[in-house]
Amino acid sequence: MAAREAVLRAAQELSARGLVEGTSGNVSARVDDRLVCLTPSSLAYDAMTVDDLVLVDLDGAVVEGERSPTTEKALHLACYRAYPEIGGVIHSHPVYATMFALARQPIPAAIEEVAVYIGGDIPVCDYVMTGTDELGEAVALRLKDRAATLLANHGMVTLGATPERALHAALVVERTAHIVWGARLLGATHDLPPKVNEDFGGVYRFVRDQRM
Ligand SMILES: [Zn+2]
Repeated sequence: MAAREAVLRAAQELSARGLVEGTSGNVSARVDDRLVCLTPSSLAYDAMTVDDLVLVDLDGAVVEGERSPTTEKALHLACYRAYPEIGGVIHSHPVYATMFALARQPIPAAIEEVAVYIGGDIPVCDYVMTGTDELGEAVALRLKDRAATLLANHGMVTLGATPERALHAALVVERTAHIVWGARLLGATHDLPPKVNEDFGGVYRFVRDQRM
């Protein structure tokens, strides 16, 4: 099944690119209008095969698979229930983005590609304990017109038409967090003209609605 292969590829890339440490983070893909494929809990990414992935319905009941789904499945399922155009979700703990999550500061869309790929500034979702349905609902709300949100004192969630697109969004945010962090050490930074972010935010919305 293509969704399983896409989840496994993105999960291994997530680990290889250093966006998570050990078994943390998780990846999913929408299989059809009823089912979602999720990574399992507590399994090393380099040892993971497609047979370790778990199929659940949109309420979280396991439909297929031997392992337990990720304990953070509520984050993923809330996004699929809320946004029919979304086909891939990734939860990660990247270093620079998580620094902003601890400071509870949004990452500004100060670089053109941020608005194009993410939709605008990356907001911070208020702190809610990991693994809860409440966190899932709060995160999904922040992702209405964005491909990424920070989770206060925790990490990040990104989404897209596929797990590959959600991974790309995570990489764009982490790179931007690193750049903004460094630029602020150099002195005052400058915003893009608001019109630029508005226009590029429109491009993001168009691409998202086309499920590209
Ligand atoms: Zn986490």
